[in-house]
Amino acid sequence: MAINYIHPDYEIVRDYDRCITCRVCERQCANGAHEYLADNDKMVCDDAKCVNCHRCVSLCPTRALKIVKSEHTFKENANWSGKAIKEVYKQATSGGVLLSSMGNPESYPVYFDKMLVNASQVTNPSIDPLREPMETKVFLGSKPQNIERNAAGKIINNLTPQLILSMPIMFSAMSYGSISYNAHESLARAAQELGIYYNTGEGGLHEDFYKYGKNTIVQVASGRFGVHKDYLNSAAAIEIKMGQGAKPGIGGHLPGTKILGEISKTRMIPEGTDAISPAPHHDIYSIEDLRQLVFSLKEATAYKKPVIVKIAAVHNVSAIASGIARSGADIIAIDGFRGGTGAAPTRIRDNVGIPIELALASVDKRLRDEGIRDSVSILCAGSIRSSADVVKAIALGADAVYIGTSALLALGCHLCRSCHTGRCNWGIATQNPELTKRLNPNIGYKRLVNLLTAWEHEIKEMMGGMGINSIESLKGNRLMLRGVGMNEKELEILGIKHAGE
Ligand code: SF4
Ligand code: SF4
Ligand code: SF4
Repeated sequence: MAINYIHPDYEIVRDYDRCITCRVCERQCANGAHEYLADNDKMVCDDAKCVNCHRCVSLCPTRALKIVKSEHTFKENANWSGKAIKEVYKQATSGGVLLSSMGNPESYPVYFDKMLVNASQVTNPSIDPLREPMETKVFLGSKPQNIERNAAGKIINNLTPQLILSMPIMFSAMSYGSISYNAHESLARAAQELGIYYNTGEGGLHEDFYKYGKNTIVQVASGRFGVHKDYLNSAAAIEIKMGQGAKPGIGGHLPGTKILGEISKTRMIPEGTDAISPAPHHDIYSIEDLRQLVFSLKEATAYKKPVIVKIAAVHNVSAIASGIARSGADIIAIDGFRGGTGAAPTRIRDNVGIPIELALASVDKRLRDEGIRDSVSILCAGSIRSSADVVKAIALGADAVYIGTSALLALGCHLCRSCHTGRCNWGIATQNPELTKRLNPNIGYKRLVNLLTAWEHEIKEMMGGMGINSIESLKGNRLMLRGVGMNEKELEILGIKHAGE
């Protein structure tokens, strides 16, 4: 015990003057941190089981609870932080890979926070979005290089299939299995009401959700779980997942304990079997191989669906994107290292990949330099936290963004980073029927609609302030951005000037 002991990260503080021993906290904590002692008629707790999800705090009827960060400390120094010491202890005990959830939490620069947006003054006046039309509609897909006309002078419509979004935001890939049925239903219904899209992730599509097909992007990942002709044809677009920002270079793993009932049926694998997605697609070792899959999927869907290729933001991302643009893909999704995940090895999550802002800017520049920018649309993903991040991403060259963590927060996630345990107290990253019913999709979908409605208003206000009345005019418009506190190289890669210039 002594050599294994690690002091808890959080402490549960109960105000016994307020506590009425109603035992709500005991029932709500799936981690078993609260316990009622009948002999003493008293609540007690085990801090070591608390992951700081705030479920008990939110539901305590007398506001008797709070969770505080433990003040317990190691004899840390600049090299050995308490976190680093704890991780060595944990691995010396377990002999295993450390697992975590959600995106990279380390203190790398957040470039979105070092960029400021312009506003018009005097000339090129600002536009009042309440009185004048502002176009937030976006078309995603390959655009023709030239406009062609027939003999009668009429424009020939040679536009390939497009995704049409009411605003430049979509819900990123989250599989049924990693998140609950009710979370999926919330995302699907919100996408339908907002006129945008949600993404099945690699877990297949539950038969109940085929009715949302017009607002669905289906994913084809290396495990090919749940992929069949009807699945492909049910959706508005198909996404090939080559990489994920939270865990570039490695595959996925949903433990057999989560492959039950409907999830096993949807993934088309036996109950109790581990769902292991290999690191590579075993039929893709070159851009030519990727091209074959892109066109196989187009062939299977009669060339009616745009194909997205999703990659993680890594060191040579612009060269990779250039190859993908030539593979026949219609859209490239770039996922930054702060993007969320249901489970990832901690070392990979915290040390592999690059910031999305730098990846996005370098991909947009390279495709422009090569004259192929219009042959694909670019989606930016990986911890878009607000409408300001959306505006900055579009000014850096994105056509639209994917949001994942922000959407989960709207559904009640408190970012406790325990999704990999399967005991999500908010009913999101779990398949436990007692927990999944805590997320009411009637409330969940409405909160998602509220969030994106609010963001759309803010985007329009920022665009109006810049004197811009359409997303198309903002796209890649780096003149609208200025950097603060960045070095020359960072400004050069982002393609923006420093504030004051
Ligand atoms: S929920 Fe609040 S009032 Fe009820 S037992 Fe827990 S701390 Fe006490
Ligand atoms: S894990 Fe969540 S519900 Fe359990 S004690 Fe901690 S904050 Fe409360
Ligand atoms: S989805 Fe649930 S388990 Fe995952 S971080 Fe959010 S609250 Fe925690």
